[in-house]
Amino acid sequence: MAEPGAEFLISGGTGYVPEDGLSGAQLLGAGDGLTYNDFLILPGYIDFTSDQVDLTSALTKKIRLKTPLVSSPMDTVTEANMAIAMALMGGIGFIHHNCTPEFQANQVRRVKKYEQGFITDPVVMSPRDRVRDVFEAKARHGFCGIPITDSGKLGGKLVGIISSRDIDFLTQEKHDLPLAEVMTRREDLVVAPADITLKEANEILQRSKKGKLPIVNEDDQLVAIIARTDLKKNRDYPLASKDSRKQLLCGAAIGTHEDDKYRLDLLAQAGVDAVVLDSSQGNSIFQIHMIQHIKEKYPDLQVIGGNVVTAAQAKNLIDAGVDALRVGMGSGSICITQEAAPKIPPDIKSLSPKLPSTVSGSFMLAVGRPQATAVYKVAEYARRFGVPVIADGGIQTVGHIVKALALGASTVMMGSLLAATSEAPGEYFFTDGVRLKKYRGMGSVDAMDKHVGSQSRYFSESDKIKVAQGVSGAVQDKGSIHKFVPYLIAGIQHGCQDIGAKSLTQLRVMMYAGELKFERRTLCAQMEGGVHGLHSYEKRLF
Ligand code: GDP
Ligand code: GDP
Ligand code: GDP
Ligand code: 5GP
Repeated sequence: MAEPGAEFLISGGTGYVPEDGLSGAQLLGAGDGLTYNDFLILPGYIDFTSDQVDLTSALTKKIRLKTPLVSSPMDTVTEANMAIAMALMGGIGFIHHNCTPEFQANQVRRVKKYEQGFITDPVVMSPRDRVRDVFEAKARHGFCGIPITDSGKLGGKLVGIISSRDIDFLTQEKHDLPLAEVMTRREDLVVAPADITLKEANEILQRSKKGKLPIVNEDDQLVAIIARTDLKKNRDYPLASKDSRKQLLCGAAIGTHEDDKYRLDLLAQAGVDAVVLDSSQGNSIFQIHMIQHIKEKYPDLQVIGGNVVTAAQAKNLIDAGVDALRVGMGSGSICITQEAAPKIPPDIKSLSPKLPSTVSGSFMLAVGRPQATAVYKVAEYARRFGVPVIADGGIQTVGHIVKALALGASTVMMGSLLAATSEAPGEYFFTDGVRLKKYRGMGSVDAMDKHVGSQSRYFSESDKIKVAQGVSGAVQDKGSIHKFVPYLIAGIQHGCQDIGAKSLTQLRVMMYAGELKFERRTLCAQMEGGVHGLHSYEKRLF
């Protein structure tokens, strides 16, 4: 008699595994456009822990990030606080341009000054300056560890240093005292010579137990300082995205109009690392001219073109010399570029809740592409030229991030997911007992009424009648980026682990080799994948 279960055995034993699932090309190569919710990734084999998964990925041709996350240049998402937090966590923020060029450049400057190695342009004072000048500097810049030189300038002879401890307890009538009377004098200072490496200087600073270390040349002239706080920041944020001077990386958005060249100049002076040309349809003569202009004037500045959703659009921008492409049209949570006036039926809406609160407005421009297809198509084309892709918009969950990366995106740009964190601009308010922050599309009438920048993205100057391409709404409080991004990072690592990819590089290799398998998801399957059958439940993400 045969062994029990023998009827299930297939000749060939365990070596045989039937074909299962679809490759990326089969899923997205042809046919209907798909969104992130339309498919799943099939699990693979795990031989590592999730915290071993390396999320290093390219933002542009020359910039690599340890965390593939980018905050969108929107006025309710990214100003300096968001950009600092994103860079500290290993991602990057792009400062919006719905503001004056001066304001935007100042935001970039704040990010670049937040942390650094050698501070080569420190605020310096002279022994004849007054105590009140130090208080003013503290109010303006946020720090008051100030070296004192005879000329009051960098390059002058070092004569002392002043810090908060020297002035904290001085009463009002002493605020007119010259710094010469309160500073610590040169003979008591620990200094380092100008030819020292940052590593050696840091060691001296640690040993001296002081807050600052002035660096002087052989004539005792001040050339730089380093700050103890920066050593702590470096230790506390091991993933931080930094340039060669140990300053945080910062991006900014500009338009493609003639006056954006002035904005560009100010941003470049502030030290911006990458600019994104903010346009909802990037395949234009205006954008190509701007790319050429930037590449000629600032060859080291990384330029991100977009937005695009097809290979044909991408081709023109790649030919013009972009260092990365921003992909997405009509997939943003606040976006109505593709949407038709008759709204999505309520049963589908409940599967993928977009804005939890009040939204208004609806128009149709009929142009765009479902985001999963857009990301796959553009990334598959752009990779041949070594141009990384940023998947922009439509990210509602950490699963969507994993899917975007699995389809070939190198990084993911988010608006609504990062809105309403404490680092996003704007104040919290309450509606029906829920703590909210405003979140609005840059093409919403609300945003366009405010300033200049967003008008250039969604209209040309000649447009007499404005057509809104976005809505204005509110998003529920998510706490701090410093808690939220680690949750996203851990989520992406878990996703990669389930897939069996130990790094994002491996994930890409698996996808293009056809080893990564996908499966379409019916509406019922989407419902099965959500919480169901419960009377009520509480959703806590981390
Ligand atoms: P890692 O910090 O070990 O990942 O390597 P880095 O290349 O970032 O740092 C090299 C050296 O620079 C180390 O001695 C760091 O302590 C130091 N360093 C890194 N960031 C900063 C900073 O922001 N300020 C200062 N003063 N030193 C830094
Ligand atoms: P302080 O003791 O009040 O000077 O402040 P901390 O040393 O705690 O912090 C100063 C922070 O500001 C560091 O992260 C510096 O990198 C940064 N910073 C940027 N520019 C300057 C500058 O010109 N002078 C000083 N002192 N810090 C600067
Ligand atoms: P913090 O940044 O406010 O913690 O201050 P610092 O550690 O920079 O300075 C503390 C005190 O030491 C102040 O009175 C400074 O003027 C003084 N100080 C700063 N650097 C030196 C130094 O190299 N040698 C000596 N003897 N005093 C210093
Ligand atoms: P989210 O992450 O909220 O889904 O999408 C953010 C993205 O939507 C932004 O990065 C930007 O590309 C896009 N976006 C921002 N404002 C508007 C708008 O008013 N209209 C449209 N069509 N897209 C917008």
